[in-house]
Amino acid sequence: MTPNSNDFTLAIHGGAGTILKSRMTPEKEAAYHAGLRRALEAGRAVLADGGAALDAVTAAVMALEDEPLFNAGRGAVYTSAGKQEMDAAIMDGRDRAAGAVAGILGPKNPILAARAVMEHSGHVLLIGESALEFCRRQGLAFEEAQYFFTEQRWQALQDTLAMQESGTEDTDESRKHGTVGAVARDRHGNVAAATSTGGMTAKSPGRVGDSPVIGAGTWADDATCAVSGTGHGEIFIRYAAAHEIASRMRYAGESLEEASRVVVMDMLAPAGGSGGIIAVDHAGNFALPFNCSGMYRGVVQADNALRTAIYRDDLKDVSASA
Ligand code: ASP
Repeated sequence: MTPNSNDFTLAIHGGAGTILKSRMTPEKEAAYHAGLRRALEAGRAVLADGGAALDAVTAAVMALEDEPLFNAGRGAVYTSAGKQEMDAAIMDGRDRAAGAVAGILGPKNPILAARAVMEHSGHVLLIGESALEFCRRQGLAFEEAQYFFTEQRWQALQDTLAMQESGTEDTDESRKHGTVGAVARDRHGNVAAATSTGGMTAKSPGRVGDSPVIGAGTWADDATCAVSGTGHGEIFIRYAAAHEIASRMRYAGESLEEASRVVVMDMLAPAGGSGGIIAVDHAGNFALPFNCSGMYRGVVQADNALRTAIYRDDLKDVSASA
């Protein structure tokens, strides 16, 4: 469906590493839908007011980072050394301005760190201690390690290390990874994308995934689309996944839906790139393809209905739920 030119679209994801359906309980499922709903509300408040896509994706990702259920900010996964190293990126489709951070622990909202890099550093990507120093100078809010801790992620690390030790293959996507992201098209026709993650459980210290790599896990250009990815980051980087979608639209004339489907299903999946993407184009169309069992996801457009989904089922309207 192509919305009217003055309409807006916001799509979000809470990662492609969903809990196995057999282990999902009604209570947990409700909590995930509620977490997605709060993020949609945060972004909708900006867009409904005529605000910028860039501010909407920032607000939506902050809400997801604050929610411990998702692997970003509070609730991020652990490296093999038992530390959290977070990556985030943001991109403005108006002028392809971009900012990113990698390997950080401290800023309460890593997406604000990425945005500060974009707006105040003169660079695109800052890493580690120097990125933290920059964030302190920018006056960003910091939290202690305890704030980011969740028992569930710590346990996932112990289980993963034990499985690696015994040579058992881990088939539980929720233990392995996750990420959060948002893409938006505002009432002015501009698009933006934001992605934030703890990366993959038991990753090597210093490993950087696709999320902060512009063109891999995050991309926005008003001429085509805005994209945020989630999944096996190494493959998303090697296939320049987000930029590939924009390129197929630009050079091959494919629609957003077609370009997204081809990249996720025909390129990433055969290469072992389990995961998915969310995308919006400059007209406000959206696509949410994934090639694994589920992806926490949601959409809101100018009709105001908040719609979320986890597995292969259709988006359902959660506007009325508490
Ligand atoms: N793409 C993230 C990474 O590789 C993880 C994920 O989205 O599941 O760091």
